[in-house]
Amino acid sequence: MKHTARHGSLRRLTAGALAAAVLLLAPLALAAEGTVNTKSLVLRKEADKDSRALQTLDKGDRLNVLSETGSWYKVSYGRYTGYVMKKYVKVSGSVEKEEKQEDKKAADSSSAGENAPSACRPGDKGSDVRKLQRALKAAGMYSGKIDGVYGKGTTAAVKAYQKKHGLTQDGVAGRATLKALFGEAAPETEKLAWFGSEDVIPKGATVTIKDCRTGKTFTAVRWSGSNHMDTEPASRADTATLKEIYGGSWSWRRRPILVKYNGHVYAASMNGMPHGTSTIDNGFDGHFCIHFTGSKTHGTDRVDEDHQSAVAAAMKYEW
Ligand SMILES: [Zn+2]
Repeated sequence: MKHTARHGSLRRLTAGALAAAVLLLAPLALAAEGTVNTKSLVLRKEADKDSRALQTLDKGDRLNVLSETGSWYKVSYGRYTGYVMKKYVKVSGSVEKEEKQEDKKAADSSSAGENAPSACRPGDKGSDVRKLQRALKAAGMYSGKIDGVYGKGTTAAVKAYQKKHGLTQDGVAGRATLKALFGEAAPETEKLAWFGSEDVIPKGATVTIKDCRTGKTFTAVRWSGSNHMDTEPASRADTATLKEIYGGSWSWRRRPILVKYNGHVYAASMNGMPHGTSTIDNGFDGHFCIHFTGSKTHGTDRVDEDHQSAVAAAMKYEW
């Protein structure tokens, strides 16, 4: 009895090892050689134009083409594995289509199966709008291009979708509309009454900040602060984004922002002037202040009306 059981598990092990070996061999057997046929070609992490760039390839560079999915090849190049647009690569040999499961994954990430985009409105551009357009198309409400431009066609499609679902027909893809389209939406914007909640976002915590008016986002770290939250951009890139938000020069001007932390989105106000202590090598000479409902300034120990009106303005925005 004991012997048989042992024999059986050995046989299973052998079969498993064999399957693993076949899996390891399979991609090698399918690889074809490709040559870049355009001046410069971006190798991306995912099969998506908005995905992160891993490397820029030059004309004549050679790649191992592993598989194809939609209008993309999955390739390996040096230490990178990623995706390039098919039309810019000349391939010798045949390329296998990605397995069903991967096709499904690729399809999901390019349609309504993906995470809901941020709220967006007429005039917006970018990947959130593209997500919205794909979902509207999947819902049969949009027949235009997936171009990431929230123009008249997209606005009309949103209104038609809203009408059909009994939503306010404002043409804006806000929380309710996104929830209907995607089955989920970004969390509702909340007030954070500062005193009594000073540690809801603890010192050292990393938050994502969205500037309400420009829609730009960056990452920041809470350094300290007791009357309000003193914060530093997390990196040089984040400092650059903050400077862009302020139109290229630092300023004490208050701006309505949303602060995303731990699944919550809080209405807040920031200034854009580096001052005082700096603890991160981020090119930002100091920290900047973030105020929430009822928070006070450092020196004067008063509630700052300009910050409070920016917090109130932020309450009208959704992530
Ligand atoms: Zn401060």
